[in-house]
Amino acid sequence: MTAAPSNGNGSRPTVILRACPSYDVSRVRTIVREGLEELGLRPTGRTLVKPNLVASGQLFTHAHTRAEFFEGVLLALRDRDDGGVTELAVGERSGVTIPTRFAYAGAGYDRVIRRAGIRRYCFEEERQVEVPLRHEGRLRDHVFVPRSVATSDFLVNCPKFKAHPWTTVSFSMKNFIGIQDDRHRLIDHDHRLNAKVVDLQHVVQPGFIALDGIVAGQGPMLTPVPFDLGLVIMGDNQVALDAVCCAIIGVDPGRVEHVRTAQEHGLGPIELSAINVSGDVSLGEARRRARGFDVGLKRVEEWFEGSHISCYAGPPTEEGVPEYCWGGCPGTLVEAISVLRRFDAATDRKMPRVHVVFGAYEGEIPAGPGEKVIFVGDCTTWRGRIAGREVSVDRLPPTYARTDPHDARHQDIYTKMALVTYRLLKARGEDHVRLRGCPISVAEQVLMLANVSGAKNPYFDPRIVVDFNRAYLGWRLAALRRGRYQEA
Ligand code: SF4
Repeated sequence: MTAAPSNGNGSRPTVILRACPSYDVSRVRTIVREGLEELGLRPTGRTLVKPNLVASGQLFTHAHTRAEFFEGVLLALRDRDDGGVTELAVGERSGVTIPTRFAYAGAGYDRVIRRAGIRRYCFEEERQVEVPLRHEGRLRDHVFVPRSVATSDFLVNCPKFKAHPWTTVSFSMKNFIGIQDDRHRLIDHDHRLNAKVVDLQHVVQPGFIALDGIVAGQGPMLTPVPFDLGLVIMGDNQVALDAVCCAIIGVDPGRVEHVRTAQEHGLGPIELSAINVSGDVSLGEARRRARGFDVGLKRVEEWFEGSHISCYAGPPTEEGVPEYCWGGCPGTLVEAISVLRRFDAATDRKMPRVHVVFGAYEGEIPAGPGEKVIFVGDCTTWRGRIAGREVSVDRLPPTYARTDPHDARHQDIYTKMALVTYRLLKARGEDHVRLRGCPISVAEQVLMLANVSGAKNPYFDPRIVVDFNRAYLGWRLAALRRGRYQEA
């Protein structure tokens, strides 16, 4: 496969870098309208805007595309509509188990949606449609996406500029992980995550990308550390846009697996010489602004040095390839701890000494008397002695849902809560416990660690409990009413 340096209509891709010092709606509107004009683009037909709302609310301010940015994009699309738009809508699937209704409200989107009079899609509440994949090197022969995505005429990708500890970066391509509902999103959300992101590029390509780089995010995905970048970045090709964003933060796009693979699939160029870079900020100036931006893959063992949590990670396959599960359980543990710390500042003080094991780990586990050892995920294997007793942990076979997306079933947060509590209760008095699944989601790890440590369970936090449950009930009722709950 060779790279095709085009934006889908045969011309050379363009990436526009514009200065925008603050979340000023009218400034964003002007910048985005001018970007659409420069690219010669107009929204048409069913126009769907896809932001990144992986987490929102007062504790997750920098994880998502800001509402002011979203509103500026909507207004610019209206400015460029010459009558061809039949529906202007926003669609998203926020973080796994979190109702997208809750994410919209927490990010301040509902006010904007009402003001603009547009349609709102929560992807997990919609009918999911099967899309065949035919490209070489695919993970699957078909994937499921919400109907509104499959039937959109003009998709506008509105991601957030973020580093990502599992995939190095989260720019435009990575934002596509939120076009699937939970049961389909979790399939291949393991050491194949980068390949999954690329497969989703073959479902649909956006007509326009407007990336919120005004305040960027570094570090954990859900609780990033803010970084003032002051940029709006626009383009007509995802690979080209992601490659330029990589260049801004000094990362070689050829070393970011999903960006490189998408280029190999002919979805766009990563060589800067094949991309028009324009705008009122030069690439050199953008690089200067990004100096000190913290980016890079970080293994789970490194995150908790000096804490009561010791991690041990072997390869996710017994054959040893790859050597680490970048898209699965080790990363979700890191996110889970970051979430617990947000809700309970005493999390580290409350946490007893625990040992958490991933993959085919072969080394020692120096657990003292009374210290819990947690084996996370179906691929974990280990043989050795814990508290003087022989322990043997075997790899578990993949479930049907893992082998065929038709069999994927939804599991809600309260079912997960009950299951995690049951497993831990069953293992009370035991030195070790096994968590089954592939991957173990952030939500499950949050519940497991809250249970083990006595840290506050975020799902019962008074700041969110009413709104969360109202949104949860709204989701379930909407899904039941439409008869789509178990439907693929
Ligand atoms: S069980 Fe977890 S660590 Fe193992 S392959 Fe699955 S996601 Fe990766």
